Amino acid sequence: MSRPIKATINTTALSHNLRRIRALAPTSKVWSVVKANAYGHGLARCYQALAATDGYALLNYEEAIQLREAGVTQPILLLEGFFKPTDLSLIEAYQLTTAIHSDWQLQALASYKAQKPISVYLKINNGMNRLGFSPDKVLTVWQQLNTLPAVGEITLMSHFARADEGPDFIREPSQRLDQATSELQAPRCYANSAASLWHPETHHQWIRPGVVLYGASPTGCAADIESFDLRPVMSLTSEIIAVQQVAAGEGVGYGHRYVTPSAQRIGIVACGYADGYPRHAPSGTPVLIAGKLCKIVGTVSMDMLMVDITECPEASIGSAVELWGSQLPVDTIAHAAGTVGYELLTAVTQRVPFTIISDIS
Ligand SMILES: *Cc1c(COP(=O)(O)O)cnc(C)c1O
Repeated sequence: MSRPIKATINTTALSHNLRRIRALAPTSKVWSVVKANAYGHGLARCYQALAATDGYALLNYEEAIQLREAGVTQPILLLEGFFKPTDLSLIEAYQLTTAIHSDWQLQALASYKAQKPISVYLKINNGMNRLGFSPDKVLTVWQQLNTLPAVGEITLMSHFARADEGPDFIREPSQRLDQATSELQAPRCYANSAASLWHPETHHQWIRPGVVLYGASPTGCAADIESFDLRPVMSLTSEIIAVQQVAAGEGVGYGHRYVTPSAQRIGIVACGYADGYPRHAPSGTPVLIAGKLCKIVGTVSMDMLMVDITECPEASIGSAVELWGSQLPVDTIAHAAGTVGYELLTAVTQRVPFTIISDIS
């Protein structure tokens, strides 16, 4: 028998989430962001459940080519653009759409002889200060791009630094964008998950949701997912593989950083940080055992973690454990561990087997 840990991907939930996001932005087209191996869910496992999308957004060629070779015909957007001038032939061959964020990319496009023009996303830096041309350069770059025979359709692209923090953090960057682009006749693509959920004024022609498709919240607040009727896609589950009766006052796990306040029954779960469970999850982090909420005790180790099952007498060796997923939001675990759902979802390791389910929603 194999080790009981597994990650289950619910493709019905994924399709459902795409429909929900579309309903929130009914006049916009949707790039489904599938970077980082579909946020750790597995691109090959997920792309078909997103077949109703208008395009797939990601950032490495391997994944883009994987989609093309699987027969995907929708546009594919390279969010970080191209990395070397020689990449342009690959972009043309696989009909990829590329972000343009730096002067050297303009020069590369200027000297590239394309058989078929390449669609580009002109990236505007509106305060994230990561990628993109500053708003005062946009007009010039736009004009330059328009003179280049290698360039096809041009879309304006930007990314909000604080869309998950409320309207006050969207207003100023939105105004800056509007001012910089008011004269430009071009489609716009500004909204990530948070802006897709909460800022319809940013939706324009294309939105770019990522984490919400997988049923996790951009704010880290699990309640967001329920309030928008989104569903968790990944469930990380395992089993109890041993039970210890521990007397009061005994240490549990490495460093004895947990000491039993009273006699406790401790369940040992086959899941540790080498599976991608966060080592920073403190004692008290919730775990679902046989359908009941229990708490982690002690330090998460490489291959196992310990759970207080004193109040869950039905739990025993072989009991089902949900670390996060359909009944325990990944955002809740991320919050306890001082991180975000994005990090946990993308950090499940190679040794965890994945299975796919689809259910009737
Ligand atoms: C990752 C990413 C997104 C999606 O972000 P979410 O918060 O997951 O919705 C959108 N745009 C760009 C440029 C990205 O890098």
